[in-house]
Amino acid sequence: MNLIFIGVQGSGKGTQAKIISRKLNIKHISTGDLLRNIKGRLKEKVDRYMNSGQLIPDELMIEILLENINEKGFILDGFPRNLKQAKQLDSKIKIDKVIEIHISDEEAIKRLSGRLLCPKCGAGYNSITSPKPKKEGICDNCQGKLVQRKDDTKEAIKKRIETYHKETEPIIEHYKNKLIRIDGEKTIEKISTRLLQELHEALD
Ligand code: AMP
Repeated sequence: MNLIFIGVQGSGKGTQAKIISRKLNIKHISTGDLLRNIKGRLKEKVDRYMNSGQLIPDELMIEILLENINEKGFILDGFPRNLKQAKQLDSKIKIDKVIEIHISDEEAIKRLSGRLLCPKCGAGYNSITSPKPKKEGICDNCQGKLVQRKDDTKEAIKKRIETYHKETEPIIEHYKNKLIRIDGEKTIEKISTRLLQELHEALD
């Protein structure tokens, strides 16, 4: 099964993509993670775009994605980000369902401003919403020192939300026949239960 998860940054689509990928045993591909872990000659270029909250040029992004995609089933998280990417993807691979996780801009700003990450083990926290670390600034799992993502600054957050409305939202219309829309302002567990239910119903 090939799925796309769409949602403004902070919607929790990455969290849900991880849960669904485990439950359905399909690969989770986060383009943000692919880009953050990129090594070699492209690193400097990619970092420049990411750190200022801009999108990576389409050609480069598509090249990186296709190297990581396989035919056995996947969840795309963070791709496509605009219509051009969506059309390029459609010309290569069949998409079964597109899941939009919806939250308001106010909620997105609140969540992103408090987002913290453990650079050692990859665990995610939130100092404003949840989950909060037990000890402020320290990872519960490995005692690593928590950091903010470079693109979670006020300016970059604003830019990313603007880009989402302008560039990414039009793909929801493009995929309207395959769309499952979920309210992202519920608990993580409620959302994943609902999502699994909807997926089973849609694909039965
Ligand atoms: P994310 O972790 O999904 O919020 O992505 C972080 C950053 O990676 C974005 O702000 C972009 O700079 C870059 N990025 C991720 N996915 C894409 C994509 N599909 N196209 C272009 N840039 C992307």
